[in-house]
Amino acid sequence: MSNRKFNGAVLDITTLPTEPDHERTFHLDLIAPDDLKTAVMAVPEGSDIPVDITVHSLIDGVLFQANATVDLHAECVRCLDPIKISRDIDVSEMFFTPEAIARMRDEHGDEGVEGLEVLEGDKIELEPLLRDNIVTSFPYQPLCSQDCQGLCDVCGEKWANLPDDHKHELLDPRFAKLAGFFDKVDSEQKES
Ligand SMILES: [Zn+2]
Ligand SMILES: [Zn+2]
Repeated sequence: MSNRKFNGAVLDITTLPTEPDHERTFHLDLIAPDDLKTAVMAVPEGSDIPVDITVHSLIDGVLFQANATVDLHAECVRCLDPIKISRDIDVSEMFFTPEAIARMRDEHGDEGVEGLEVLEGDKIELEPLLRDNIVTSFPYQPLCSQDCQGLCDVCGEKWANLPDDHKHELLDPRFAKLAGFFDKVDSEQKES
């Protein structure tokens, strides 16, 4: 496949016989688009997404199985250090022929076919399948390491770089107010 675009990617399964129990494998090298991301993680635009696919013909349709590898970039939610990891994504989906769907609807009603994927001709739309599985695999709160101590609330330094006894002498809030009062008097005196 010469078209490496992730968005709109389609797999042509014309070569898969319609009789049951045949298998075809495909390898695609897709390129990450600029919108494969959440608020906390992103697959960097332009990075490679190798995808290995096996399609298997069954009596009622086609079993689609894929494995994709993606690079992920994020910031640690505690210390804001950059995180770069690579992740394997497995996708498995059954596509039913329209005939199979019609038969199941006859047997079990509309509820029986709710949410089932329908095989439309010789094409399988890859983008939604891959996108859903990639984005849902992102950690909700990425961490540089499970025991990351984060940053000091006061000075913003990483705890990992600070001595164990690091602390700040905090003014009593009542004195802080007074200090502010004296600053004000001071500047007013300068103005007059
Ligand atoms: Zn961290
Ligand atoms: Zn500090």
